[in-house]
Amino acid sequence: MTQTWTLADHRVFAPPAGAKGEMLLFGADQASLFAIDSATRDVIARWRQREAIDLDDVPETDREVLDALADAQLLVPSAWLRRSPRAPIDPAAVPMATLVLEAAQACNLRCTYCYAGGGAYGGPSRVMRAELAARAARHLVEASGDRNTVTLVLFGGEPLLNFPALEAAVLEGEAAAAARGKKLVVSMTTNGTRFTPEALDFLAEHRIGVSVSIDGPPDIHDANRPYVGGKRRGSYADVVEGVRQLRERTGRRPAARVTLKPDQWARIPEVFEHLLDLGFVEVGIAPTSPVSATLLPTAEQDEALFAGFSRLAQRFVDDAARGRVLPFSNLLDLLARLHLGQVKPVPCGAGLGYVAMDAEGAFFLCHRFAGNGDFRIGDLDAGIDHAKVRACLDEQAAPREDACASCWARSLCAGGCHYENHQRESVLGLAQGGSCDFIRRWIELGIRTYGTLRADPDHPVLAFLSRRADDDASS
Ligand code: SF4
Ligand code: SF4
Repeated sequence: MTQTWTLADHRVFAPPAGAKGEMLLFGADQASLFAIDSATRDVIARWRQREAIDLDDVPETDREVLDALADAQLLVPSAWLRRSPRAPIDPAAVPMATLVLEAAQACNLRCTYCYAGGGAYGGPSRVMRAELAARAARHLVEASGDRNTVTLVLFGGEPLLNFPALEAAVLEGEAAAAARGKKLVVSMTTNGTRFTPEALDFLAEHRIGVSVSIDGPPDIHDANRPYVGGKRRGSYADVVEGVRQLRERTGRRPAARVTLKPDQWARIPEVFEHLLDLGFVEVGIAPTSPVSATLLPTAEQDEALFAGFSRLAQRFVDDAARGRVLPFSNLLDLLARLHLGQVKPVPCGAGLGYVAMDAEGAFFLCHRFAGNGDFRIGDLDAGIDHAKVRACLDEQAAPREDACASCWARSLCAGGCHYENHQRESVLGLAQGGSCDFIRRWIELGIRTYGTLRADPDHPVLAFLSRRADDDASS
């Protein structure tokens, strides 16, 4: 029987309007990208509707293009399209890579959008014992199999409310890593209001990467991130002073983690500029999680979010044309994945090498699920319950399986954040897939932006993306 061929799922993306760059052919299964010209695009358009192509019937003029597509696995044997989906990953086979330590389930701020209920994750405020933190760090190293590098994330609430646990974890983790010839990378996410001279010296000495939560100019930041207690005083001035001290003592610039509520999305470019002016090394912007129905956006607000990100992408292209890298973390993360051709078999590492541990030593699928018994996946004494991890992940994937299987963005999205999906669908009862339009528009914008860079293979921004990816891989 003659073998027939079919074009695999793909999209063609032109550079953004008015920008120079390459037209890119995107392969949906492998996130592969190929520069094409308009003649190739026309050949693809001629054959894309054909379910079964007999290559012997293809005119010579088109055959060369189809052969090249077959080499790139964008033209595949028709039978492949009926292949069964890949087997799910076995959590027991994935060594531990990252442990998020919820060292203080307490916070001195009361951010208005906090998913952790004031840092305590639904229980009373409490802190982790230093001895438990040290054991957890050792466990991270010991459970990391053949990985050379492991990452310890100091997290809360506000982790600097429990410096003894941070110190114990880092020292024990470093000793355990050194004994096994591994590298321990430590990072911390803080609200920036609790730096002490002792903590700053420790951060400097152990080269701990710091991300500071800050939401932009004083009016936005103070409205979002007030102190706990009666007057709900804003924390902006103290955070800026904390960042100044951090830079002075450690000689390193922190990254900014921004969270904005829907009614603030129209101010994204202004927020970004403000934080650049404050000297942050990178700025990442997250829309608030739908912790409650009051944080759900209107259609106009969704549009403002995309418009804000698009403005920053345009600014990125303009800066790149001058050889500069705009430190917009969201876009840099996406461009780095495109540059390296990284496919996401799962949305994130939650439960698959990445776990969070609460103040009592219980493991959760990820930091945002801490305190939710449905996502408790073991503890430090008994280890990780891999069957429970698999059950949690399957339950998250099941409702979107069909939609994701036929979505062109699947290899770069893989289903979206489990926590956000759970919040939207199980807690708020919203329909599945409510974020998908935004995800696809954002990924498309990233691919188009990448096309503008690829036109010059020696573009300094491409070199920067490779270096950044190397740093991430070694961290
Ligand atoms: S955009 Fe939606 S449908 Fe597409 S892969 Fe992501 S979650 Fe699935
Ligand atoms: S589930 Fe969401 S918040 Fe948790 S690690 Fe994954 S992407 Fe991050």
